[in-house]
Amino acid sequence: MAGNDESPDGSRSNRLIRNLYRTGGYVYAAKPGDIAREHGFSRIARLASNENPWPPSPAAVKAGCEALREANRYPDEGMEDLSRTLARFHGDFSFVTGVGMDGVIETIIRTVINPGDRVAISVPTFSFYRLAALAQNAKVVEIRRGRDFSIDTRQFIRETRDAKISFLCSPNNPTGTVTPVEDIREILSVISGILFLDNAYVEFSDIDYRPLMNEFDNLVIGRTMSKAFALAGARVGYAFVPGWLTPFYHRAATPFTLNSISASVACGAFADRERMDEYVSYVRQWRERIRQECPLPSPASGANFLMFDTRPESGDEMVRLLAGKGVIVRSCASFPGLPDHYIRVSIGDVWENEIFLTAIRGICRSHR
Ligand SMILES: *Cc1c(COP(=O)(O)O)cnc(C)c1O
Repeated sequence: MAGNDESPDGSRSNRLIRNLYRTGGYVYAAKPGDIAREHGFSRIARLASNENPWPPSPAAVKAGCEALREANRYPDEGMEDLSRTLARFHGDFSFVTGVGMDGVIETIIRTVINPGDRVAISVPTFSFYRLAALAQNAKVVEIRRGRDFSIDTRQFIRETRDAKISFLCSPNNPTGTVTPVEDIREILSVISGILFLDNAYVEFSDIDYRPLMNEFDNLVIGRTMSKAFALAGARVGYAFVPGWLTPFYHRAATPFTLNSISASVACGAFADRERMDEYVSYVRQWRERIRQECPLPSPASGANFLMFDTRPESGDEMVRLLAGKGVIVRSCASFPGLPDHYIRVSIGDVWENEIFLTAIRGICRSHR
């Protein structure tokens, strides 16, 4: 029978599935359609996944349509066009690409980790580093951020000493915290493993870590086209890597890494820099305004989202209350290393931000 998990000697999944995957996994945002049906809304403000609310650049759409015409052929394994585009955009660095930055993270971990090796992760943060590390049977070491969510560089250095690779996210998801370049330099000048610096949101901040690539050969800077470049659905990520790492990354990667359509779409998006710049300044303006007008406290953010302290409500309860008003935000309860009273709210389209502000003011008024 299709979907039947039972076999005479116990359930098939018990025999066949790794313990690691019997429970858990990546936590996705609630589906807008489900919330709309449940509460009878015609439209829902989608502020849970830090997506760009604007559609991709027309240049990206055009490039994707053209690439589709040649989709009978395998992609260029060297990703020549995208590599050239990256060099034009960023300058003369070594790059690797992947299916989202998630794909890059997964491949880099697979490239360096043997079972039992240490992977250090600064928490609270993005959950996928941990999932990808556990998939390779790494030993995961979590390093807590301070009360203000900053990094204590000495503690970080101490706890990453034996790590083959450590993960630090700046601006950090979900706190928005930006770590100064000087702190990263201090860490890199001591540690011997790889530092993976996740820059998924760096376009929304005032910081630039790229010059560090010329000073250290154990730094990898992860980037994504999913946020500032409005291509979350195309799944394109890339990283600045030290040149010595590239051939090994390609051996560990699945063949071709990226599909030809996504690669072309990314090239089109890079060509339309004005659109990205416009979105970034839009985000900065709204980030400031929402931070001021929302009655809940929030740490300064260098990203396209804000994290709010929801006390006395829990994060989960606040998510439920906001869903009842047609707004989907992310509870931070599933982020290890964070208390259960935070939500993460993306900067959305104008109408979404306005609905959020009205809803949160109403909730705060009636609950205290
Ligand atoms: C969104 C996000 C990513 C993943 O981006 P994709 O390119 O869509 O896989 C990586 N790191 C952080 C911190 C993110 O928030």
